[in-house]
Amino acid sequence: MSKLTQIQTYLNQEGASLAVISDPVTVNYLTGFVCDPHERQMFLFVYADREPVLFVPALELAKATSLLNFPVFGYVDSENPWEKIKSGLPSTAGKKLFAEFDNLNVTKFQGLQTVFEGHFENLTPFIQRMRLIKSQDEIDKMLIAGQYADKAVQIGIDNISLTRTETDILAKIEFGMKEQGINKMSFETMVLTGDNAANPHGEPGVNRIENNALLLFDLGVMYEGYASDMTRTVAVGQPDQFKQDIYNLCLEAQLTAQDFVKPGVSASEVDHAARQVIEKAGYGEYFNHRLGHGIGMDVHEYPSIMEGNDLVIEEGMCFSIEPGIYIPGKVGVRIEDCGYVTKDGFNAFTQTPKELRFFEG
Ligand code: MN
Ligand code: MN
Repeated sequence: MSKLTQIQTYLNQEGASLAVISDPVTVNYLTGFVCDPHERQMFLFVYADREPVLFVPALELAKATSLLNFPVFGYVDSENPWEKIKSGLPSTAGKKLFAEFDNLNVTKFQGLQTVFEGHFENLTPFIQRMRLIKSQDEIDKMLIAGQYADKAVQIGIDNISLTRTETDILAKIEFGMKEQGINKMSFETMVLTGDNAANPHGEPGVNRIENNALLLFDLGVMYEGYASDMTRTVAVGQPDQFKQDIYNLCLEAQLTAQDFVKPGVSASEVDHAARQVIEKAGYGEYFNHRLGHGIGMDVHEYPSIMEGNDLVIEEGMCFSIEPGIYIPGKVGVRIEDCGYVTKDGFNAFTQTPKELRFFEG
């Protein structure tokens, strides 16, 4: 069954007449049409009982029309998009409708409400479940995205120098990726040295790489619409024993969770597998985020691998395993691989070694 047919089947089951797709990533997932409309309006209208219709900014019309085998219409910047949509589509007054609540902003939601006089329900959970189990084709793309992430971390390692800043090394990494044909990182590359690595969402700056400290790389690329995401922490010079011990504790947690994953365990249990390693050693309070997140066309997507999520892990799910230990002013470590669930375990998309490695600055 095609993805659009799956949505139509769901609408019929729910007694609804229309699903409004507003997230450009979902539009790509369902149709293969890639477009970032920025602040302009783009919607895919999927009907229960007639063919879908795509609405796009006029500058995207030619590209969409040549790709898609269903009607496309658009608007120029000087037109009111809501009036254009209303006059171009059949009335759904009084019908049950679906929209992607996690994606819509207030302007879009109010615009849609003026166009469609019906009651909107949330389509996001259904889309999340559709995207949850990846096909072999999707996994193949994510494996390649992972290979590029491995190369990117290697570029970072090759450029470690006490004379360079975090952003110097970041620039080398992103330049190297662009040279290899990657036009987009999957999020803002992080290169964090010393104390800065002890902040789970630290920002790279113009501070120089510290000696006898840990250096953290968190990065990923987009490859044919799919994201990679990995973190490696390495030693520059000879960090003290405490820093090395914290590193090895984080690694034990990461490997324990990775070994624990198999179909039938819950997301909550996977989180616990890693967390109990760090808690037993007395550092539980310094691991202050969920263990992982789903990954696919978005770098963060459903499901969260965290306490309280009873979702049962199945073959084909893709997510990160990324424990961290952040002791402010002392040390910060995170180790992250994303991977996919097989019939008996977890295969990582990234292969860069994880034992603590030492580099001279
Ligand atoms: Mn991640
Ligand atoms: Mn990451």
